[in-house]
Amino acid sequence: MTKPISLVPGREYLAIPGPSVIPDAVLQAMHRPSPNIYDGELIEMMPALTRDLKRVARTDHNVAIYISNGHGTWEAALSNVIAPGERVLAPASGMFTHGWAEMAEGIGAKVDLIDFGMSAPWDMGRIAEALRADNDHEIRAVLAVHVDTSTSIRNNIPALRALLDDLNHPALLMADCIASLGCDRFEMDAWGVDVTVTACQKGLMTPAGMGFVFFNDKAQAKRAEMPRVSQYWDWQTRVKPQLFYQYFNGTAPTHHLYGLRTALDFIHAEGIEQVWARHEHLAKAIWTACETWAEGGALELNVAERTHRSRAVTALRLKDGQGTRLRQFAETQLGLTLGIGLGMADWDGCFRLGHMGHVNGQMVMAMLGGVETAMAALNIPRGRGALEAAAAALAGCPARQTKA
Ligand SMILES: *Cc1c(COP(=O)(O)O)cnc(C)c1O
Repeated sequence: MTKPISLVPGREYLAIPGPSVIPDAVLQAMHRPSPNIYDGELIEMMPALTRDLKRVARTDHNVAIYISNGHGTWEAALSNVIAPGERVLAPASGMFTHGWAEMAEGIGAKVDLIDFGMSAPWDMGRIAEALRADNDHEIRAVLAVHVDTSTSIRNNIPALRALLDDLNHPALLMADCIASLGCDRFEMDAWGVDVTVTACQKGLMTPAGMGFVFFNDKAQAKRAEMPRVSQYWDWQTRVKPQLFYQYFNGTAPTHHLYGLRTALDFIHAEGIEQVWARHEHLAKAIWTACETWAEGGALELNVAERTHRSRAVTALRLKDGQGTRLRQFAETQLGLTLGIGLGMADWDGCFRLGHMGHVNGQMVMAMLGGVETAMAALNIPRGRGALEAAAAALAGCPARQTKA
């Protein structure tokens, strides 16, 4: 009998939809002693940091920074504009919208949830119906998750804006871009988004621990009418701090700020349009491979149409609960960690590929190669030529001159 061999030693690859791969330069920027938080470099770097952060969200308005994860920004955003008893509308294309809606209930809001299930994008007709029925404009905000990471559905935020405008509905448009910022095209001001929430550990390539709430003047006007706002979540002092510690309502996330500075330098050196284009081309190669595998009848992409798919995460389903087994093989035999099937009824059959942030062509081919290998090991029926098709998709991408 041949001796068992492990193919894991080597650089492991965490291909889950957040936290994402952290560039070495970001880690290195964080590897330093604590800086002074009362004077000096850290304080001086804040104006450029907030400016460059706003450039990623494509807004000229305000950003408040929190020591929190994405869930924290959900509560932060709601706390500033939704008073107890006020109504919000939540069109749900996955688990994360349900999560945000529950949080709204937690702060005393009345939530109208429209559930589109786990494989369908928003149905604008049904959202229109809900808004039309709201003659007295009791709905104060629409909670819009751009990309729902559990399902990998990408919703159409400009279409939602157009709908609110057509109906002359004054509700705030609040977008969760946690899985899309720095991956999929998102333009806060041009798209008429009033409040945007995001976190640093996905497209922003920084270790988890910072959350961001962007808001415009319309949202600020609503904030000004609030009977009270929890002091910690209040965005007011955070955007107009008199003293450095007011940015964070206490000690700054010192090392995260250095990491984020480097991550933002990466994004702006590449150019945000290029970042989006890279994610799109890599996603197309991934979809091509998955669509080829799907011809074997065992694998299915959760989102049928390409136009509704995220370019940062892809949710897949295998027959007979094989998703978990495939993930386990990839992780324990190949050193490749894939995402779990989050929130799905048949979660054992589901798994997700993360392709957000610091990801390039060879990483995508390696990830796809890992999936192909795991499918081979588990004897999962699959269409042939998936890797070749993905390679052809990448090879066909128009080449841009970049330094090696
Ligand atoms: C990751 C994610 C969240 C949750 O963020 P945490 O940092 O885990 O709290 C919320 N919404 C979306 C769309 C996400 O992708």
